[in-house]
Amino acid sequence: MSEMPSPFRVGHAIDVHAFATSVSPHDGKTLMLACLEWPGETPLEGHSDGDAAAHAACDALLAAAGLGDLGTNFGTDRPEWSGASGQAFLTEVRRMLSDAGWAIGNVTVQVIAKRPRMMKRLPEASEKMSQILGAPVSVSATTTDGLGFTGRGEGIAASATALIFRA
Ligand SMILES: [Zn+2]
Repeated sequence: MSEMPSPFRVGHAIDVHAFATSVSPHDGKTLMLACLEWPGETPLEGHSDGDAAAHAACDALLAAAGLGDLGTNFGTDRPEWSGASGQAFLTEVRRMLSDAGWAIGNVTVQVIAKRPRMMKRLPEASEKMSQILGAPVSVSATTTDGLGFTGRGEGIAASATALIFRA
């Protein structure tokens, strides 16, 4: 192949977390999703704050750049990242891509969940994640019509696609 490599790369990822069974909203822990607090909603289980939307966006960006994923970069061998927020992961992933010579074009994230009802706060979530990544992020949400683990309210899934380009 003699052609120049494409200056564009896409990445896609899915992330899933179960709702915490050992804590209740009354314990002072709050659901973190799409880098927003959701007062009164059950938090998610996880090595971190369980922000499936932020994690899916991170994994899509890392995949696009060929830099592995959250597990390979921030796994159990790096305990300093234990309990890190979705915002912290996104900030670090943005830095990693920049260091590798990539700029972020845009990211889309779709949250698949019965709860929380996200519609009213989607613009806020999009704005927050856009600020963190320094690029347009669109957050959307859907339910699964009561089907599957998200439909039964056992957890939350998020799917993300990222476009990056050579800076
Ligand atoms: Zn995750």
